[in-house]
Amino acid sequence: MIQHRIIYGLLLVTTITIMTSCNQPTNSNSTVGSEPVTPAKTFHWKMVTTWPPNFPVFQEGVMQFANDIETMSDGQLQIQVYAGGELVPALQTFDAVSQGTVQMGHGAAYYWAGKIPAAQFMSTVPFGMTAKGMNAWLYSGGGLELWREIYKPFNVIPFPAGNSGVQMGGWFKKKITTVADLKGLKMRIPGLGGKVLAKAGGTPILLAGGEVYTALERGAIDATEWVGPYHDQRLGLYQAAQYYYYPGWHEPGTTLELIVNTQAWESLPTDLQRIVEVTARSTNQWMFSQFEALNIKALKELTEQHHVKILPFPPEVLKELKRLTAATLAEEAQQDETFNQVYQAYQRFQTDYATWNAIADEAYAHALQP
Ligand code: CA
Repeated sequence: MIQHRIIYGLLLVTTITIMTSCNQPTNSNSTVGSEPVTPAKTFHWKMVTTWPPNFPVFQEGVMQFANDIETMSDGQLQIQVYAGGELVPALQTFDAVSQGTVQMGHGAAYYWAGKIPAAQFMSTVPFGMTAKGMNAWLYSGGGLELWREIYKPFNVIPFPAGNSGVQMGGWFKKKITTVADLKGLKMRIPGLGGKVLAKAGGTPILLAGGEVYTALERGAIDATEWVGPYHDQRLGLYQAAQYYYYPGWHEPGTTLELIVNTQAWESLPTDLQRIVEVTARSTNQWMFSQFEALNIKALKELTEQHHVKILPFPPEVLKELKRLTAATLAEEAQQDETFNQVYQAYQRFQTDYATWNAIADEAYAHALQP
């Protein structure tokens, strides 16, 4: 008992001593309490996106990104987000950031292919890398440095900020059993995937999201790709075509981007820059996780409730599309030196990654099979 009292007394004395010493200024010359504190500068930024208002996962993730930054910066960086068309047309997002009309944008690098052909590697290319490979390349394999280099002349700094995962091959009114079935096929498929389809004898059609369903339903097109089960189900595409093919050979892991105007970026103090950078990383992860989880649920509903026929592209068809992709990329590389350089770097990483992946993810997926 007495011992306890002594120990308690000692503890009390020690505690009081610590508390007292904490109240002492650590530096006798310190006048911290009386120094005038400069209020931190508040930044009011505008951000435009390529997505429709309230577009789940895409625009949703961007709104969350802006809110998180405002919270973490204690209101020092406030970002007003505008969906596509609200402030500038969706496909003028890059120009608006480049010219400094707005400080930030969100979209996908392949939208700027007309201006920067090499940018396509920073979103996705047919038979390219999946989300895992893209993240490894961009963050840790030199990809992001290349990306920054190719955007630099445009006064824009890019950050990976989202990934759709492997997309679906698309909705087809008729079965695809041989390469010949691609001949004359009118399909909504943008970018390099469209160029590959054209080589196979098909006709790629460019349509905005809002027009896809009606075009397929009325037979103006024979097939369309969109995103994955979740977004495709929302668009009601299962009501317009019967066959749902996989995999999305043309978009194996589309990276989305945050773009920031260079001068705006340089005007930010280091702590706010770090908040933006880390929040972009978190958005990259969040969007990918959302796509994966929502696709699982939607796939189940499509098969169980809507009786959609989920079919793999025949190996012969995929082999031919792969061959035509290599030819398409080689042609593009001949026309643009930067495209060629980025293609070489991308290909090197993809080849090495495939070697590792074959004995890691692929081997494991194989081991899980019954
Ligand atoms: Ca797509």
